[in-house]
Amino acid sequence: MAKKDYYKVLEVTRDASQEEIKKAYRKQALKYHPDKNQGDSAAEENFKEAAEAYEVLSDAQKRNKYDQFGHAAFENGGAGGFGGGMTMDDIFSQFGDIFGGFGGFGGFGGFGGSSRGGGVTRGSNLRVKVTLNLLEVAEGVEKKIKVKKYNACGACNGSGAKHGTAKNTCSTCHGSGQVTRVTNTFLGQMQTASVCPTCHGEGTTISEKCEACYGEGIVKADEVIKINIPAGVAEGMQVKMGGKGNSARRGGISGDLLVIIQEEKHPQLTRDGSDLIYNLYLSIPQATLGATVEIPTVEGKAKIKIEGGTQPGRILRLRGKGVPEVNGYGRGDLLVQINVWIPKSMDKEERRIFEKMEQSDTFTPRPDKSENGFFNRMKNFFE
Ligand SMILES: [Zn+2]
Ligand SMILES: [Zn+2]
Repeated sequence: MAKKDYYKVLEVTRDASQEEIKKAYRKQALKYHPDKNQGDSAAEENFKEAAEAYEVLSDAQKRNKYDQFGHAAFENGGAGGFGGGMTMDDIFSQFGDIFGGFGGFGGFGGFGGSSRGGGVTRGSNLRVKVTLNLLEVAEGVEKKIKVKKYNACGACNGSGAKHGTAKNTCSTCHGSGQVTRVTNTFLGQMQTASVCPTCHGEGTTISEKCEACYGEGIVKADEVIKINIPAGVAEGMQVKMGGKGNSARRGGISGDLLVIIQEEKHPQLTRDGSDLIYNLYLSIPQATLGATVEIPTVEGKAKIKIEGGTQPGRILRLRGKGVPEVNGYGRGDLLVQINVWIPKSMDKEERRIFEKMEQSDTFTPRPDKSENGFFNRMKNFFE
């Protein structure tokens, strides 16, 4: 696939300033951020493309090469260090700062273990699935779930250093957490920064390791976590619990716990957004004479009155008997769709009665406008 022009990717002109490029990248990165585009592979591609463009255009030297030679400047594993494309981890570890102080993302979620150059590590996110029945969906629920996760080590308070021993500045990177690598390419020498292999970006090393966590600062343990799930959630939604994911190595920032909602199907009620639909079958006498029938609701069984002369296809709307909107505003309805059950066989006596009814003018169909023809039905349904 031909690579897109980096300036076009970031939607900037060729003479854009560094500030403009940074702003443009931030705009693109936020637009295609994986937190906002769950499971959207096209968005992920755009996100990577923008990061790649930014990596080159934000670096005066690389930008200069790109302006002269185009994409060819970075081919064959040349200079950019992304010959095989950048991974999401690379992007977050290199450009994570771009999201800093920008509301809405709570850090840069989803890419665990990334180091932010400056020495702060972040624990990875945990994902758990929780299955809810309809009553739990309708009322909201507090679930307790057991997760296996990394927590800060109690013996060293998460520092990884044996109690009473100090941390030293990393001698490889002198505390910066980064090392620069010089590579020779046919275009000349290129410098690339990468995470310090000695301290993994933390900037410090420990002289004596904590014995409980072997110097990692984290230990794996079972933990029971209480999760408050709001009413009205739906299949596939994610409830994020900030900081409840894995703890980071040696005192970094904890990841998030992402709770993925799964809905258990109700045997009789079908969900349509915040409305519920129930298919009610009446017998011919019930529909003709009227009846009191039992229907299922979220809370259990309820009785409703059916008037005599109720036509099949009618929809009874029970206001507020659906599921609450997840934003807390309003609640859906329970739609009871009327069907009439026609027997497939009957005995002689019954057949005689039906034959007699057929002679009678009373049973000649004469739908009037107030009855629910197909289109009226649709209108009712979607009102
Ligand atoms: Zn180091
Ligand atoms: Zn420890």
